Amino acid sequence: MSEAERLDHFMARAAAAYYAGREPFGARGDFTTAPEMSQAFGECLGLWAAVVWQGMGAPSPLHLVECGPGRGTLMADALRGIATALPPFRAALRVHLVEASPGLRAVQAATLGAGVAEWHDSLNTVPPGPAIILGNEFLDALPIRQFIRRGEGWMERFVRDGAFVEQPAENPPPLPAEAPEGAVQEWNEAGEAFIRALSARLATQGGAALFLDYGPAESGLGDSLQALANHRAADPLSEPGSVDITAHVDFAALARTARAAGVAAHGPVPQGIFLQALGLVTRAAMLARAAPHSAGMQLSAAQRLIAPEGMGRLFKALALTHPALPAPPGFEVSAP
Ligand code: SAH
Repeated sequence: MSEAERLDHFMARAAAAYYAGREPFGARGDFTTAPEMSQAFGECLGLWAAVVWQGMGAPSPLHLVECGPGRGTLMADALRGIATALPPFRAALRVHLVEASPGLRAVQAATLGAGVAEWHDSLNTVPPGPAIILGNEFLDALPIRQFIRRGEGWMERFVRDGAFVEQPAENPPPLPAEAPEGAVQEWNEAGEAFIRALSARLATQGGAALFLDYGPAESGLGDSLQALANHRAADPLSEPGSVDITAHVDFAALARTARAAGVAAHGPVPQGIFLQALGLVTRAAMLARAAPHSAGMQLSAAQRLIAPEGMGRLFKALALTHPALPAPPGFEVSAP
């Protein structure tokens, strides 16, 4: 019998093996993401960044950073939209991609073309200065820890031979005093550390960040660990690398972490409301008119991104900004 591995260590190993070994996106892969469904998604996020940049006083240079860029599609669409709408912003940009997988780095380089971007293992090596940071379905890939209620206390979940085992918790966070027997409390320790470092950077050097992902609006109990293979639910404890393992993002916890580190947190707002505020439907209609043969596809992709029963409600947008900046586009009504 092998040794038990803490869930977050197992998840980190599984995610690294998974993304190192394949290009999982699209109809033939394991899952489809918003930028792979419609170019309007990346274009709208590029224009979001342009408005934020103007609110910052149009600094040059400006570091545009994407975390977990997948195939590089979002960045390519954002840069094209920016170059058309606001050439001075494109000229001010230095593009950085934070990507762990060597295979995906090569795909991103092919998508963007030579000399467009620089790659990083983490945010730490992005040069100092004002930055706008984007991440779509990045936070859900960061490893979580799970604690399970047993008797009057909590145990921690470890993985051994493809199954959970429970052991005494190692340096647990504050956990609820009361919970039903067997209840699960998740903690995205790695995600909070990431947001803390990012927020410290925004607070001292200026800028903003935007994350889109799936998860509830409020923190709560529950086991959200999940896996996908061939667009179907799979066992998250499967052999590392064979399935895409993720967890729901606790946006409220990340917003608290960000505020404690000195930045303003806006949202989370449902993705459907956010994308509509950014004009995604109008943009999709323009694309449909320009290319009638793919008009149906453009409009159905926009509908899926926005509809509550599609990705419009489960997916949320969270923005973090230097406290002196105005509320970013799409978040005007949500107080910081
Ligand atoms: N944003 C893309 C891809 C989402 S999949 C899209 O929407 O299509 C998650 C991405 O995050 C992949 O590119 C994966 O390789 C990357 N990733 C996962 N964990 C990471 C980590 N710890 N550091 C850097 N990149 C990571």
